[in-house]
Amino acid sequence: MMHNKLINFVQDIYQSNEFIPLHAPTFAGNEKKYVNSTLDSTFVSSVGKYVEHFEQQIEEFTGTEKAIATVNGTAALHTALYMAGVKSGDLVITQALTFVATCNALYHMGAEPIFVDVSRVSLGLCPKALETYLEDNAFINNDGFSQHKITQQVIRAVVPMHTFGHPVELDELMTVCIKWNIALVEDAAESLGSFYKGQHTGTFGSFNAVSFNGNKVITTGGGGMVLCKNYDEGMHTKHVTTTAKVPHPYEFFHDEPGFNYRLPNLNAALGCAQMEVLPTFLKRKRALALQYKSLFKNSDFKFVEEPEYAQSNYWLNAVICPDVASRETLIKETNANGVMTRPIWKLMHRLPMFKGAMRGELKISEWVESHLINLPSSPILMRG
Ligand SMILES: *Cc1c(COP(=O)(O)O)cnc(C)c1O
Repeated sequence: MMHNKLINFVQDIYQSNEFIPLHAPTFAGNEKKYVNSTLDSTFVSSVGKYVEHFEQQIEEFTGTEKAIATVNGTAALHTALYMAGVKSGDLVITQALTFVATCNALYHMGAEPIFVDVSRVSLGLCPKALETYLEDNAFINNDGFSQHKITQQVIRAVVPMHTFGHPVELDELMTVCIKWNIALVEDAAESLGSFYKGQHTGTFGSFNAVSFNGNKVITTGGGGMVLCKNYDEGMHTKHVTTTAKVPHPYEFFHDEPGFNYRLPNLNAALGCAQMEVLPTFLKRKRALALQYKSLFKNSDFKFVEEPEYAQSNYWLNAVICPDVASRETLIKETNANGVMTRPIWKLMHRLPMFKGAMRGELKISEWVESHLINLPSSPILMRG
């Protein structure tokens, strides 16, 4: 049976018969040293050298013009949507197959989500489904913006999410966004270390978000970053996330409504150390994904692989089960034996606050929702 094979395989990989979580952080580098140095210096909060250093590390790694550290990924996404011009009453198109934070961020901008289907290739927003939805439901108004035919609301942004680190079909999505004059904001929360045709995810839209939550590829405890395509807009983003205070030795003057979203130096210290080991984590995660792939080879369980145009970070490994019943057995048996697996998120339109949202056909999303499970994916040292 597949569940026995999988349980043995995971216990062997992690060399443990104890509980094996889905994704645990690893601190084997300079984490303690850097965090302790913030305590020694007393600079644990809004002043200190680590925030800027961490931002520079992310800029170098991703190739983005400006990266702005925030308290978490949701705050980064909230800021990115704000900077992209999303306003109260606007519509924002995203996928129903995502973590709730994507929708919470746009909800708190006063916007409403529209859900369109995901692609079978990436498990992220499908360019064809997006185009079809717009052709059926939108028109370009006299100001050049997309407007919904029935509600007359402006469709301000498209937010694709790189599911489990697998990059969406960005060229095709960008073509649709340009044609319909809609801002692209990538939810790259899960995809640090994932590249689309050689370019890092989260660098295609003008403002995009990554997360450093405890279960992500690297962690700062809690944290996130806004990746900005343009340097000046990046500096403005920083201003907005730091209460929009105009620099002055002692006067308190703030020139626009701001957020207090700055990442504390304490957390940034952890991030600096984690960035040093990120390349190693990515290698180990890719090696683990290859092993899963060979485990499921010649079975009717289909391992979720990176799209051929992309290099994925394999943040969370996943497998598509042949039917709903075999998925139930696999989830039940693995968890009963201390190997953590879990279903994918409930689709967003099933949650009470988004059940009234407009949506296109969600066939692939529903199929993924009922057939996929996530597998243990921590980047620990592996044999062989
Ligand atoms: C983790 C995550 C976020 C936000 O992360 P936090 O740092 O926990 O706020 C947003 N979107 C997706 C898809 C995520 O997986």
